Parts: sequence; C-alpha cells; structure tokens
Amino acid sequence: MQITIKRCDKLKQRPDASNLGFGTIFTDHMFNMDYNPEEGWHNPRIEPYASFIMDPATMVLHYGQAIFEGLKAFRTESGNIQIFRPRDNFTRLNKSARALCIPEIDEDFIFYAMKQLLNIEKDWVPGTHDASLYIRPAIIATDPFLGVRASHTYRLFIILSPVGAYYKEGFNPIKIWVTKNHVRAVRGGVGNVKTAGNYAASLYAGEEAHRNGYTQVLWLDGVELKYVEEVGSMNIFFVIDDEIITPMLSGSILPGITRDSVISLAKMWNLKITERKISIDELIDTHESGKLHEIFGSGTAAIISPVGEIRYGKKILTIDDGKVGPMANKFYNAITDIQYGIAEDPFGWIEPI
Ligand SMILES: *Cc1c(COP(=O)(O)O)cnc(C)c1O
Repeated sequence: MQITIKRCDKLKQRPDASNLGFGTIFTDHMFNMDYNPEEGWHNPRIEPYASFIMDPATMVLHYGQAIFEGLKAFRTESGNIQIFRPRDNFTRLNKSARALCIPEIDEDFIFYAMKQLLNIEKDWVPGTHDASLYIRPAIIATDPFLGVRASHTYRLFIILSPVGAYYKEGFNPIKIWVTKNHVRAVRGGVGNVKTAGNYAASLYAGEEAHRNGYTQVLWLDGVELKYVEEVGSMNIFFVIDDEIITPMLSGSILPGITRDSVISLAKMWNLKITERKISIDELIDTHESGKLHEIFGSGTAAIISPVGEIRYGKKILTIDDGKVGPMANKFYNAITDIQYGIAEDPFGWIEPI
C-alpha cells in the first residue's frame, strides 16, 4: 500500500525544548488511514495536522469504541532518532483491537507508516535529555449511528507531541491516594486494554485524590478492594527487604511495556523480582516493620516515577523519607540511557528510524 504524502505549506513555530510540559503541542503533520468492510484498511496518508469533521452521531462519541497507544522517539547525542520498543506497542494495539471488536491492523505496515511520519517530523524530536517526541496512535469508531454494536468503519491516526516531564514533580517523588470507594477495572472487563472508557471511569477518584493533595490514584482490585493493581497510567513496584514486587497481571491490569522493561533489567541484574498478588494490608505491615524501602511507578510517559507517600484512609505511609530511592534511580537511569543511546541496548529494544 502506497502512503500519500501531502505537506503543509507553512510550518508551525517549534517550541523551546526546555519548557515543553506534556501533551499540549502537536507537530505539523499526522498520519490517517480508514477502514470499511469493502476495502479493509485503506487510503494511508500523511497530511497536515488538522481537526476531524464528524457527524454528531459518530459512534465513538457515544459508545467509546476507541483504543490508543503511547510510545516515544528520542534524539541521541549524535543526533540520530530512535524509538523505544515500538513493535510491542503495535502488538498491544492489535490486542486492544481484538478486545474492542475493531479490525486488526498490519503491524509492519503501521510501523512503516509511523517511521515515514517521523522522518518528515524529525526536527520536532527535542534534543535535550529528558525531553522526547511522544507518539500517539489511536483507532476510533466512525459509523454515524445510534445504537450499540461494533462500528463498521474506523479511522486510525497517529499524532506526535514534543514532551518534557509528565508530572510537574519531574523525577521527584509523587504522592498517591488509595481509593476505598472506586475501582478502575474488573477481571473479565477491559482493564488490560488501552481503551478510552477506562480513563473516563478513573476521573472521579482522580479528582478526589487531587482535592486531597495527591497526584494519582492507586487502584485496588475490583472484587475485594484488597490487592494492589496499578496507578491508572503506570504500573507499580515495591521494594520490600531485598525483593522487588509488582502485582501479577490479573486481567484487569494494563500490561505495561515499561513494566516489562523493569522486569527484564532486574532479571539481567540478578535482582530478586516477583510478580504476585500483594495486598494493601501487606504494604501497611511491611511499612510498619520498616521493610518497605521504595515504591515506584513505571510507564512510557514518566518512565519511572518514585512514590514518596501513600494515603489509605487515615493511614499515611511515608516512603524512604519522601526521597528518590536507589532502585527507582537505577531503573530510571538504565532505561533512559538505552532510550537516549547512552548505554548499549542488550535487549534489542531500540529501533532506529
Ligand atoms: C499505558 C498504561 C500503562 C503503562 O504502560 P507502558 O506501556 O509502560 O506505557 C499503565 N497503566 C495504564 C492503565 C496505561 O494506560
């Protein structure tokens, strides 16, 4: 399939790399592609970044049949551009597609299309350490129809956004709020899928956390509200004694690629790493006995995010005096060094463009 390319007449002013924030600035061009049952995925095109014109009845607006991915491109010291584990993102996008009855895409083709887009937009990849170009592929249901069924037509698009730190805290400990009243996902649902509705469902508890001075919500399992699941945009790790523990993928936790990277590095370093159920009560007990040394989150946006405080009802757990712990530091440095081409990549995670 041939990708049609239509370039902008006038390019945007590019922002200063030192103060990018996250997710507010978009590049000059985007990738679009459509699906209908007759032609399958067709009309791949790179064109000027532009708004969609939609029928008000467009199904995604009403029934949330939407999936997305998030990955990053980095500029190395020598000026080359490389992407971190992109194939894993497109594999996961197809998993999400199957879960939401969206027709699958050709992973190799989309990968190729994304590289084409990045080639056109390569000047948008920031040159400073800890900034990068965030890549957001998404698929939405486009039938203009009121009634619940899977759409017959879809739009796939990729937009790009130069980003700095995800949290205003930067690489500093965040405070997280454990909600006792809400759940993010249940087993058998779509908690393990990057689909729009999961995030809408998380907002209420998120606002509650913000009102109380906390940055994110730590979700407990949807059945007993007992076992720790994840943070809703990050997976979570605990350093207890000499062991690193992360909740096992239960079906309601998003299988993070950064999570997998942390596990792979820990295994390479012969650290004790365990995927298992871990309850909030166990965390409180280990904290009381002085064995809970560190907590950190993992996700593409923030890479590694140290957690300095957890609040569960009236209990406040201060972790490691609210400092950045050595493990969080070690994983953050190892992953970002691979991403920026400073360290060798023993896993084959890096794809040059
Ligand atoms: C994207 C996401 C993560 C992190 O996944 P990465 O592949 O590491 O970016 C964790 N939890 C949820 C709910 C997510 O949407």
